[in-house]
Amino acid sequence: MRESAPPHLQARTPTMLGSRHIKHCRACGTLVEYRVPSEDNRERAVCGGCGTVHYENPLNVVGTLPVWEDRVLLCKRNIEPRYGLWTLPAGFMEIGETTEAGALRETDEEAGARVELQGLFTLLNVVRVSQVHFFYRARLLDTTFNPGYETIEARLFREDEVPWEQLAFRTVRETLHRYFDDRRRGQFGVHFADIV
Ligand SMILES: [Zn+2]
Repeated sequence: MRESAPPHLQARTPTMLGSRHIKHCRACGTLVEYRVPSEDNRERAVCGGCGTVHYENPLNVVGTLPVWEDRVLLCKRNIEPRYGLWTLPAGFMEIGETTEAGALRETDEEAGARVELQGLFTLLNVVRVSQVHFFYRARLLDTTFNPGYETIEARLFREDEVPWEQLAFRTVRETLHRYFDDRRRGQFGVHFADIV
């Protein structure tokens, strides 16, 4: 997760999530006002100067669940939020990339790990922060990791070694639980859930 963007992953309170956090028009710099534009049914940031309507929509977070034999790869965060806690490699999708390409890029940036994707595993709606998280199962091609600045340490964990109390994000915990459950069953599904 890149350093400039973490506010979207912070545990923002519901009041911070309402609309009304755009202050200035991105086109002309004028202060915006929040109102329902004609032929719309939601409050939007509308520029009183140039008339631009600034729409705000959910963001996609994409990542992987890298696996080597009976172990999964976790990254210890070197950045806020959740500094020092463990996460799966994941971050905000960039313009111009697919979910798969974004998941691979984040895995490279945060863990310096080479993986082969094995299909979508979880799709998690995090409505409270207006995000959708996608995690792909991934097979590690080797166990040499070269984590970037966002990561203190990238390490493999067996199920009974996972630091469950020190995971950075609820979506990471949900994804790991489903992974180990599916592995016990010997069959991997695609899981959809709403994180409230
Ligand atoms: Zn404007």
